This record gives sequence, structure tokens and C-alpha cells, in this order.
Amino acid sequence: MRGTTLCGRLLGLKRTVVEGFELVEAADGSDDLVVRVRPYAAEAAKCSRCRRVCPGYDGGSGRPRRWRGLDVGELRTFIEADVARVNCPDHKVVAAHVPWACPGSRFTSAFEDTVAWLAANTPASAVAELQRTTWRTVSAIVTRVVARAAGRVDLLDGLVRIGIDEVSYRKGQNYLVCVVNHDTGALVWAAKGRDKATVEKFFSALGEERAAKLEVVSADAATWISEVVKVQAKNAVMTMDPFHVVQWGTDAVDQVRRRTVAVLKGQKLDEEASALKGSRWALLKNPENLTSDQKVTLEGIKSTNDDLFTAYLLKEQLRDVFAQRGDKGKKLLAGWFSWVAEAGLAAFEKVAASI
Ligand SMILES: [Zn+2]
Repeated sequence: MRGTTLCGRLLGLKRTVVEGFELVEAADGSDDLVVRVRPYAAEAAKCSRCRRVCPGYDGGSGRPRRWRGLDVGELRTFIEADVARVNCPDHKVVAAHVPWACPGSRFTSAFEDTVAWLAANTPASAVAELQRTTWRTVSAIVTRVVARAAGRVDLLDGLVRIGIDEVSYRKGQNYLVCVVNHDTGALVWAAKGRDKATVEKFFSALGEERAAKLEVVSADAATWISEVVKVQAKNAVMTMDPFHVVQWGTDAVDQVRRRTVAVLKGQKLDEEASALKGSRWALLKNPENLTSDQKVTLEGIKSTNDDLFTAYLLKEQLRDVFAQRGDKGKKLLAGWFSWVAEAGLAAFEKVAASI
């Protein structure tokens, strides 16, 4: 699956696009997770002081800024972005609003809230140790956020439904194991690796008592995940992550589209081929998010290209299966299987075989 999609979903970043991420080695030899993001355009048009929508000034200084986020498992986490500037009638040329941090802060709001909560309950030196920062930083943060101290304690507390994923980065050369809390959508743990030992590390951080409270653990088909889950989360039901399955459907549509483009080119139908090349997003987006141009594109495919439109409908029905759940979902899934058998699209037959 795409790591950037996962990262955004997992870090709980709102109104933000995740562009990429990587692990970089810090001065002390440990690994830092750097997540590259940009705010939605509607957010970046706001003044960071008063949140009013203002005329833009420029795209930023050209040097990206970084915010320290909450540690995720073993990784120190940073959010990195270019910050545009706006020209506010009241505040003049100032940095645009970013959804993840307060103006002027080098820390994400989640990080500040956590530090403030801890500082209210723990000596500052202990907080500094725990959050791997200095006591000077701790007292500065506390001063700033004491008014809006919100209680975020242990990310691993209260987990009931979780997902365990492997995410690749640097072109698939390196891997992270990520754990998501399905009830909040937050990333709660991550560590480098893609093996049983890494998954076991998560369960030792979680502890037996909290592991026993897990009811659902979703994962992709990797046996090195499921084998550990079976032993460590005795009361949990293992499921296939619907997110993955829908992603497979989306990938299958893209395969059909690429094959169709190749066939058209082979028949020297260049115009038709390039029209389909531009149709990628119309086919992959959820229908409720389509622009009116994309709807027209889709209509065109419907009238000229049977296979591709069938692929599109198969993807959409697969999405419906998981939206419905229960008996209705089961019926839809059964219908979906027989439709795949009839359609004769290899890409979808492969998906059907994996479910
Ligand atoms: Zn302003």
C-alpha cells in the first residue's frame, strides 16, 4: 500500500496532505521519522494569527520548516513543510496557518499538549527525559500551553481495535511496522523492521494486560504479523483490513486502465489512448469526490470502453461491501465474486483470490 496514505491517516493529521516520509539518522545515531506534508490550500490561505482568509504573499522562504511531533514507538517524529506567507490586513505579511501547530511553535499541538499534561503531574526533568528534550524546552512549552492543557497520556492505553501494517519507504528498500488505533485513526506505535521480532516489540510495549483487551486486529496478509498476533492477542479476532482490500481494487482498476492504453496505442489510436491516460483520477477517486470534468470523463469511458468501466464498477462495489458490513455486505460480496468470474479481468481475479 502507499506509505503516504497510511502516514497521513495514521498520524491523525487533519486537513493536510502527506507528500512523503523517510527515516533519517539523527546526530545521536537513533532514527528520526520525517513526514513531509502540506496543508490543504484552503488552510494555507489563512492568517496564522487570526485565521482569516487573506491574499497570498508568497510560497514561503524556500527553506522547509520542521515541527517536533509525538514519538511514535521507537521513532522521534518530525513534520516538515514549506510554509506560505499571507498578507493579512491586520497582521501584515505573516506565516500562513498550519493545521498541526500554533503560530511560532516548533512543536506540534499534540506534542505540546502531552508535555503540558505530563508537566502538571511529573517533575520537569522527568518529562524532559521521557520526551527526549530539555527542561528549558519543557518549561517554555508549559508556559505556552498551560491554558489549553489537554490530556493525552499513553498512546497504547485503551486500544480495542487496531491495525498492524508494514510500510515501505525509499523505494521499498526499508520498512516500518506501524500500529493504528482504528477507533481514533491515530498512529500509536512504529518501529523499523518487517519481521516477527518487530511485531513482538510492539506487544512487549503494550504488555499482557492491555493485549488481552484487544478485540480486533486487522493486518494485511503477512504471516509474520498474524503468527505473532495469534500468540500475543489471545482474545482478538484477526481480520483483513478493509482499507487494504479496497486499495487492491483501486490498484486493479489502474492495471486495467494501463493495459487498455497500451492496446489502444498498439492499434495506433493515439488520441483515445491519451484521453484514457488523463482519466486516472476520475477512475480512482470515490464518486462523491469527482469534479464535474471527471464525471464527463467517466461518462466517456462508459460509452467507449466496456472493460475499463466494468473495472470501475467492480472497484466501487468492493468499496460498498465494506461500507455495508453485516448480511447486506456478505450478499454484496457474493455478488461481487460472481461478477468477477463473469468479467474475465485478470487483475480482479487476482484480488478475488486474495480475499
Ligand atoms: Zn491576521
